[in-house]
Amino acid sequence: MRSIVEPNGRHAEVSGAGFAGLTAATALAQRGWSVTVHEKGRELREQGAGIVLWHNGLRVLDALGATEAIMANSMTPPYYETRKQGQSVSREDFGGLPWRTLTRPYLHKVLLDAALAAGVEIRTGSEVVAADPSGAITLASGEVRRADLVVGADGVKSQVRDSIGFEQERLKSRDGITRFLVPRHKAELGPGEWDNVIDFWNLEPRYLRVLYVPCNDDELYIALGAPRADEEGSRTPINLELWTSAYPELAPVLRSAAVAEDPKYYGYETTMLESWTAGRVALVGDAAHAMCPALAQGAGCAMANAYTLAAAATEADAGGMEDSLLEWERLERPYTDRCQRRSADYAANRQMSEGNQFTDVPENLETAKYDPTDPHRHARTQELVP
Ligand SMILES: Cc1cc2nc3c(=O)[nH]c(=O)nc-3n(C[C@H](O)[C@H](O)[C@H](O)COP(=O)(O)OP(=O)(O)OC[C@H]3O[C@@H](n4cnc5c(N)ncnc54)[C@H](O)[C@@H]3O)c2cc1C
Repeated sequence: MRSIVEPNGRHAEVSGAGFAGLTAATALAQRGWSVTVHEKGRELREQGAGIVLWHNGLRVLDALGATEAIMANSMTPPYYETRKQGQSVSREDFGGLPWRTLTRPYLHKVLLDAALAAGVEIRTGSEVVAADPSGAITLASGEVRRADLVVGADGVKSQVRDSIGFEQERLKSRDGITRFLVPRHKAELGPGEWDNVIDFWNLEPRYLRVLYVPCNDDELYIALGAPRADEEGSRTPINLELWTSAYPELAPVLRSAAVAEDPKYYGYETTMLESWTAGRVALVGDAAHAMCPALAQGAGCAMANAYTLAAAATEADAGGMEDSLLEWERLERPYTDRCQRRSADYAANRQMSEGNQFTDVPENLETAKYDPTDPHRHARTQELVP
């Protein structure tokens, strides 16, 4: 981990200890800020199962000093394969682009360790109920806390965002997903390349999809996709008979999913805001740009934007925070907007079932390839503004 730098006399209040909040907090603290993170949950933990991280997220983790920890418990699967109605339709290795699969609890632990090592104060059971563009938050306890920078990283239902009244459009997609972390069961799965990520699609006789993502030697992330309108497909606990009849080859892992504790079916949401900033308040992560997971970029964009926000806020002159945040949004946002739009389109048209949409459509890897730590990264930004 990086060593703590000299205090710079500035203070940030962060709402939410998810991937976005922890990234912003660590990057600020590593630049000399005093930082307090408020997490409304009683425990610091990440809900959900596994995750795919690309070059953008990995570059941020490296800048936070967390590469060694990430590499210790993650993997790069040999191929990302897509199968439709039992037939393999594509297999891609991304031509050397760095990507890793890992569990969400582990990524959360790594970010939490980095935050604590950087001197971030984290308060659990501390709910932020409102924020003020002048640079203040109000907690559920009634306490008001002032800051040079307020970061709203409190997820898709952000109270920082909604208390200020950011103009927004929120769309829900027709499909959703139930996520599980289960044992690999590799020996029981029969012959096959079970170290690959495999995106299994059945569109007939009904839409049922399984995203199969090995995270390490022992843990497997599977996401079972079904339309919201399909009562049986979206049911939790899962209907084991339905899923094993669609995917008999996955029976051992589906049996583990069927007995998982407290499974939840999640619909996807796209949240598009008129602006990500108001005065000294900046929104990052799902609070600002929740997106469908088609391109697996929600957390990558969250971490990239949280990291660049910390750099932009640190560079702000005294009294210049508002302008600095506006400039940060102007420069960083086009990448996220484009990724968000493409992800929503793929969720709507289910075209990823046709196979490789990553390297066949190079724009789809634009965000994944982005390097938020590269000082020359904005050279192309103007071309991206719609
Ligand atoms: C099915 C699915 C698969 C996905 N797969 C991928 C993938 O492979 N790769 C990828 O990059 N992204 C993926 N994503 C997207 C990714 O999960 C999210 O974009 C990311 O987790 C958002 O992080 P966040 O920190 O913004 O929000 P959250 O993870 O929602 O964190 C918000 C935190 O704030 C806390 N909080 C909420 N309200 C308050 C409050 N009022 N006061 C204080 N604390 C509060 C919450 O308890 C929580 O801890 C996927 C999403 C889904 C739904």
